[in-house]
Amino acid sequence: MARTTNIQELLQQMPLERLAAVTRQKLDTARGLDDEAELRSALREAAGELLRAGDLIRVAVEGNSGLRGPLFLVRGTSQLLDLGSLTTGKPVAPTMESQTAQPEPEVSVATPSSEAADQVGSLLEAMERAQDLAVGDPRAGEPTVLVDRILTLLQSYVPGVVLFAQLNGDTHEVELARNLVPPTAPEAMPFWMRHRRPGQSLWIPEPAELPTSVRQRLEGGRNREPVSAVVPLWSPIQGADEVGLLYVLAGGDWASPALLTLAHRLSSFVSRRWRCQRDVNRRVLTDSLTGIHNRAFFDTQFPLELERARRGSFPLTLVIGDLDRFKSINDTHGHQCGDLVLREVARQVQSMLRRIDFVCRIGGEEFAFILPFTSSEETREVLARMIGRPFRVALPPELGVGVLGVTMSYGAVTFPDAGASAGELHRKADSMLYQAKELGRNRCCLWFPDGRHQQLLPAPPPAAEA
Ligand code: GH3
Ligand code: MG
Ligand code: MG
Repeated sequence: MARTTNIQELLQQMPLERLAAVTRQKLDTARGLDDEAELRSALREAAGELLRAGDLIRVAVEGNSGLRGPLFLVRGTSQLLDLGSLTTGKPVAPTMESQTAQPEPEVSVATPSSEAADQVGSLLEAMERAQDLAVGDPRAGEPTVLVDRILTLLQSYVPGVVLFAQLNGDTHEVELARNLVPPTAPEAMPFWMRHRRPGQSLWIPEPAELPTSVRQRLEGGRNREPVSAVVPLWSPIQGADEVGLLYVLAGGDWASPALLTLAHRLSSFVSRRWRCQRDVNRRVLTDSLTGIHNRAFFDTQFPLELERARRGSFPLTLVIGDLDRFKSINDTHGHQCGDLVLREVARQVQSMLRRIDFVCRIGGEEFAFILPFTSSEETREVLARMIGRPFRVALPPELGVGVLGVTMSYGAVTFPDAGASAGELHRKADSMLYQAKELGRNRCCLWFPDGRHQQLLPAPPPAAEA
């Protein structure tokens, strides 16, 4: 943990490489002049630029911290800068160590707690290498599940603190999570929450200023009056914005700056883990040929979607599609050509469906489409679009094949009418697909009660083309 007050230190600690060339040049000139007032003014300008760009984050130190501002955090690091010397113009201490010479010493951060923060820091680095990602579990891709999991893990490594995350707008399954609290309603927001600038503020609230949901969770345990630090949680997507807040609460023997540093490190840890988990998920659950979801994804996602539909009383449709006479494409034009057809069909199907639908390759030339919130009426509309005309695949000229037309047969079932369990629905969709193949391919059979089905056929081609 470093908290900097010295101008030379500031020069080293500020992320000067992120400055515009012209500002850097001004700073270099001021350094060359050996004039402290000039240097301070150039640094002030540099700090302003970094602040506007979000490279410095103003740390709002409020409540029970006993600290004086203004403190700034260098984004992406745990470096805290004290820019007070730039604004007041008071002489600056040459180093933190020689503070004894100062009439008004700055708050010392060389406390046992800050050592503890450093220890925790090395512990976190060790954990980075730990193999604890949830491989192959699509639920681990959901922010609520994922963040809760990471915090639970962290909690076991940093037993002295209590962690909570509050994700923006995401109430989904929060009540089941150990370390998540629901978003605070606007009318219940404490002062600091209403006035903070998302992504720009860190906070040290008084216990009474914590959201009710956090206080309730704390009361469940046997916590003393906590010292708390609140920092933004960053999206795992590089350069993206705040996705929520991380609350780090500790016993009263923690110094606020140390806790703030720890909170910030924990927050970056969560984002990095989140990103790792996303990447692992993507690799394990993606079909490498087509880039769409694979069988493993389907096997876990379909029961999940079904559970969601059941809880929310929504319809849900499952469609199984199988390319017609695909073997003959391989036999006639070669396997490479077959692969290109599979890839292109996957792309075209995906473009015909909504973003909330799941397109999976569950076998060689067999696909499953999970369509949430889709009734059998809506399924008919969707499928009518898909079987309206064959998939047209333009193959590379060097293959000498030209454009291939490929059709697919489909079997479709809709929850709740067609069944209650994932297994039953899948079996029925398969039997509908079988019917579609039997009846001549290039069509869809939709399951109807009492073992009946409805056939959807492509419109007959215009006479001129026949
Ligand atoms: P039907 O209309 O009855 O479904 O006939 P079909 O020829 O599509 O069905 P069949 O099950 O007889 O053959 C499926 C073929 O799909 C056999 C296999 O060579 C091919 N296939 C499976 N996976 C791949 C793949 O990854 N790449 C390529 N190129 N072909 C594949
Ligand atoms: Mg086939
Ligand atoms: Mg097949």
